[in-house]
Amino acid sequence: MPSMYAIAHKRLYASFICALVLSLAACDARAAAPELRPCFSFHAFDHLHNYGRQAEAAAASGVTVIYATGLGSDGYTGLPSSEIWEAHRQDSRDYVSHARSLGIQAVLGYLCATSMVGLDTFDDHWSPELRDALHSSPALWRQQDSEGNVLSSWYGGEYHPACMNHPDWRTYQKYMVAAQIDTGHDGIFFDNPTVHPKGCFCPYCMKEFVSFLRAENVQPEEDSVEAMRRYAMDHPMYFKRFRCTIARNFLAVMREHARTLNPDVVVTANNSLNHRDVLFSQCHRYAYNLYEMSKAEDFVVIEDMSAQPRVLADGVTMECAPTYAQLHAIIHRVPLVAVTIAENDYHTPPNLVRLAMCEAAAHKTGYMLWSTWPEEQRGRMASMVRPCADWLRTNAALLNDAAPRRDVLVFLPFRHWVETEKCAVTGMAGALTAANLPYEVVSEERFDEELKKSTVLLLEGREVCNETERGQVEQFVAGGGRVVEAKGEDWLSPLKEAVGILSLKVQAPETVRAVVRDAGNHTVVFLYNLHVERLSSFEDRVTPAEQVIVEVLVPFKTVKSVTLSSADETVVSGPVAFSLMETESGVRVRCDVPKLYIGALLVIDKGEE
Ligand SMILES: [Zn+2]
Repeated sequence: MPSMYAIAHKRLYASFICALVLSLAACDARAAAPELRPCFSFHAFDHLHNYGRQAEAAAASGVTVIYATGLGSDGYTGLPSSEIWEAHRQDSRDYVSHARSLGIQAVLGYLCATSMVGLDTFDDHWSPELRDALHSSPALWRQQDSEGNVLSSWYGGEYHPACMNHPDWRTYQKYMVAAQIDTGHDGIFFDNPTVHPKGCFCPYCMKEFVSFLRAENVQPEEDSVEAMRRYAMDHPMYFKRFRCTIARNFLAVMREHARTLNPDVVVTANNSLNHRDVLFSQCHRYAYNLYEMSKAEDFVVIEDMSAQPRVLADGVTMECAPTYAQLHAIIHRVPLVAVTIAENDYHTPPNLVRLAMCEAAAHKTGYMLWSTWPEEQRGRMASMVRPCADWLRTNAALLNDAAPRRDVLVFLPFRHWVETEKCAVTGMAGALTAANLPYEVVSEERFDEELKKSTVLLLEGREVCNETERGQVEQFVAGGGRVVEAKGEDWLSPLKEAVGILSLKVQAPETVRAVVRDAGNHTVVFLYNLHVERLSSFEDRVTPAEQVIVEVLVPFKTVKSVTLSSADETVVSGPVAFSLMETESGVRVRCDVPKLYIGALLVIDKGEE
């Protein structure tokens, strides 16, 4: 489901009385685009329910990018009277300046990509210029079903879903983008870029559907609105795919517009994915298609993943690493940012936040915090989060510049979403993560290129490959590559056999994960321990992993040193003892970590050769 926090916030904002406007100058224009790389940047939502404008808590936690409301609430209610509008604009400017003065580097403004709230009053306060630019009543901007009836919102009440293809809605949204940028925001976060499960068949969508088909060399006999609605109903595969391009095209238009106002502005969206199993099914429901949307985003935000890493009371382990691996395969190499939650609670206890930050960092993903805590928790939460943020930032270059180790390449043909709601690779990736078997996922976009750099390929089955890919697989096998199909219960054993000598061996409790990354002169092993239980919104319990033994193959012949570092207070950072083994496939380094609390890095430095 789309995020609901905007609604809660709207209520809050309605009762918000503008503070005395400070006579601060408008924010200085940014000199460059915001830093978005994981660990260099740290993100936070600054508002939730009764906790608005939490830039201070965010800054105290080490956050560098915040997601503020800005003028977002005015955007989805259709603008207030001109005096209030001006006051809100000034207020927004002041808040952005204030956030910057706290050390926040970038402030994104919120806009809802589809919601209109209160149609009766939506256009009451438009300026003559805005009215001139718009040619129809907001009631006509709504998404429509296959009969042309307007669709009501999944939120109910006063909410109405506008169509992202409607030219007047786009004009209105461009106006709001300009207002957010003019008040100092560094970018836009679009919430709910969704298409109704029963839509949208409005005349503008039908026109776009014709263009979509033409680009695929499909020419319907007739292209009237009525004919195209029938065509869409008779050709659900085409229509499903078309729906998934609506948000992408909308975001592309908004970004292009925003860049004419400030070339450094960044645009992102709520890409949903709030459950690890919905990568394919969310394309069918609200047309959240990450492969398409990410083409028009400067970075991808995954909001409220329910698989917050942890151990549940019944011993079940939750984790996001398999999801991150799949996402990196499909988002066209833009940065990835994720926020995780447990038990539908927007408050996450501090050790669990630190664990989620480590898990994300290990998988080249930036973490996003809800820095929206009750006052009595703010100091404690920030003081627990901050050391982890600082530690990750210290190691950011080390982590970002190194490439993931790959014993196995997993093929995820994303195009299959249209045929099934279940992504088989989700389960495969989960098993590989749990086994600490180094792997990477690739989509159809870079399949051949990445296959050429691999030795073992894992497929759901050979039938997922198209003709071209089958040829590429044949060549791969002819060159000595091994192919394993993830069929039946135990495909992991034949896979390990195909790999032969695994480049990583971990002896540890099964909650421990090790992620290897290689750069020219060093190999990094990121260790983290999932054994943290959530006791309440602000309490958790860490069970340290003892006697962790890591054995890792390194791509060099001599080792100068192995250094352990961690943000965990009880861990002494510094050089650690190691032993070397010469094997057929190279040098293996063995290290013992007597106790692993939440996260630690082993950095293996190359010696003189
Ligand atoms: Zn439409």
